Amino acid sequence: MEQNESADSGVMKSAYSPYNKLEKVDPSSMRWTTGFWAEKFDLCQKIIIPSMRRAMDIPENTAVFKNFYIAAGLEDGNHMGTDWSDGDCYKWLEAVAHVYSVNSDKELDRIMDELIEVIGKAQDADGYLSTQIQLTNKGRWQSIRHHELYNMGHLLTAACVHHRVTSKDSFLNIAKKLGDYLYTVFQPRPVQLAHYGFNPSNIMGLVDLYRATGDRRYLDLAGIFVDMRGSGAGGSDQNQDHVPLRRETEAVGHAVTATYLYCGAADVYAETGEKRLLEVLERIWNDVITHRMYITGGVGALHQGTSERGDPVHEAFGLKYQLPNATAYNETCANIGNAMWNWRMLKITGEAKYADVMEKVLYNSMLSAVSIDGKHFFYTNPLRWYGSAHHLLGADALSRWYTFMCYCCPPNVARSIARLHEWAYSLSTEGVWVNLYGGNSLETKLADGSPLKLTQETHYPWHGQITITIQEITNKAYGVMLRIPAWADGAEIKINGEAAGVKAEAGTYAAIEREWSSGDTIELMLPMEVRLLKAHPKVEEARSQVAIMRGPVIYCLESVDLPDGIGVAEVHIPRNIGLTPRYDQNLLGGVTVLEGEARHTRGGEWDGKLYRNIDNDSIEPVRITLIPYYAWANRGISEMTVWMPLC
Ligand SMILES: [Zn+2]
Repeated sequence: MEQNESADSGVMKSAYSPYNKLEKVDPSSMRWTTGFWAEKFDLCQKIIIPSMRRAMDIPENTAVFKNFYIAAGLEDGNHMGTDWSDGDCYKWLEAVAHVYSVNSDKELDRIMDELIEVIGKAQDADGYLSTQIQLTNKGRWQSIRHHELYNMGHLLTAACVHHRVTSKDSFLNIAKKLGDYLYTVFQPRPVQLAHYGFNPSNIMGLVDLYRATGDRRYLDLAGIFVDMRGSGAGGSDQNQDHVPLRRETEAVGHAVTATYLYCGAADVYAETGEKRLLEVLERIWNDVITHRMYITGGVGALHQGTSERGDPVHEAFGLKYQLPNATAYNETCANIGNAMWNWRMLKITGEAKYADVMEKVLYNSMLSAVSIDGKHFFYTNPLRWYGSAHHLLGADALSRWYTFMCYCCPPNVARSIARLHEWAYSLSTEGVWVNLYGGNSLETKLADGSPLKLTQETHYPWHGQITITIQEITNKAYGVMLRIPAWADGAEIKINGEAAGVKAEAGTYAAIEREWSSGDTIELMLPMEVRLLKAHPKVEEARSQVAIMRGPVIYCLESVDLPDGIGVAEVHIPRNIGLTPRYDQNLLGGVTVLEGEARHTRGGEWDGKLYRNIDNDSIEPVRITLIPYYAWANRGISEMTVWMPLC
């Protein structure tokens, strides 16, 4: 297996996966410069990561680093937090490594070294490492709910990222020892372990370890974990364990474990090219997109419920078209898992529809989890909220929190923002692919080894104008593939100020193939009209309602923006409403709001009634200001809705 060293950076490039059409760029070759994602990356490195580290030292928080120090014999105490605390700590470390790949901050390097040393000391001699087992009398491999493979999977991934961005072996050696241990336990496929594991980050982690080391056993083991799913009697849809993955026809069960399984299977496909795996992933993806995904890209409609096959499920995909708003679960980790899965499908196929879903999650149901100040988080991401009167289910909260009884989501947000610069561009033998828009500079090598340097300038997602300037390229024909989002009907492309003569079809990559020169500019104009969207009529909870979108951003109405006494559920949107965008730099970290005149119903008090005659209703005008959905719940506890009745 090849391990490609990037000559200019010394950072190991992710080894080529034979069945990926697109490869990612070296992490050190791209950086956000100005605009939306530059600001979010900056927030991540300056606020989110240090603030989260402090939260992970607080004993009431359920992800705490102290467990490693205790397991290493460096401190006294008992295990604290959840069974999955270790995994959440590794996700934070992974986020740090991604940030380090951009800023090369020596202090971050030192922090990682220190923690990795402790983690190494906590590892058992045979390679096993999971502090909730080592520090208790639970015993190894006694229950899938103990999350051993979840923790270990995140260790493997974090270690491989650390190795890739630092070239150090310290963490990777721990990962190899763990991978070798797992191989001895699971490669023989013991019957009593047929249903392991619960949350399969281990599959992604093992493929990462294979890519970092070239040791084929890790890939084989990843394949075994895919094959084990649904292979024994007694499995449940809750855990995608009722039917073998290759025979599955729909997305079922816990939405985090589901999306992580699909990610892992996509990783295995990228290495093995097994057609049946790709076929089932496409089948399940179509089911998600046509039946089970929210307009925000959120997945996991149910707190509790039943699968189509009748298994009890929780934190799970709903039945077809079952997409409730106020009780939507939409765990942040599941939404991120959806984006991660689509990123993998994009790399395999080069199809823009996957990048569209990825972007939808990033701007909407991923960012909705973190407060504008970068310190507080949501676990669930509902689409309607009834303020302090909202009935709280499961992991719902009235406002974003600093510490929590299940801390899996915050470090997932951190690592997602921190690694986004790796998702913005891809490379293939055809040239360079532009997946995400935002001010940045890229300095990389094309597939033939020739240098490419470009910059991108834009105020996207608030404006639709994107300018790419080629800074350096060798005089040879290369393709520049620009993603035209599915909503962008009427997009236009100019080269050096003149119409490019290239079809910019919505929902595709527009391929511009030519011999480029340094200084060439590409302008992409995406139409940014406000759009009113409706749901399939079988989505009962969105019936006769509209959601409002501009560019990739879903908007919502918050009661803080309404006159006193009017609830968000009483506001109706006229079909011909005029909504005017206005950028407000001082609001919610800088957002474009939409302003216009809607209607609200008044009269006919409810007086405890459940139903009433409509005769007494009066319809009156009301000025509304819509904000991006991701920015809700940053101005105190308020009511919020994404879907609004049409009038
Ligand atoms: Zn989570």
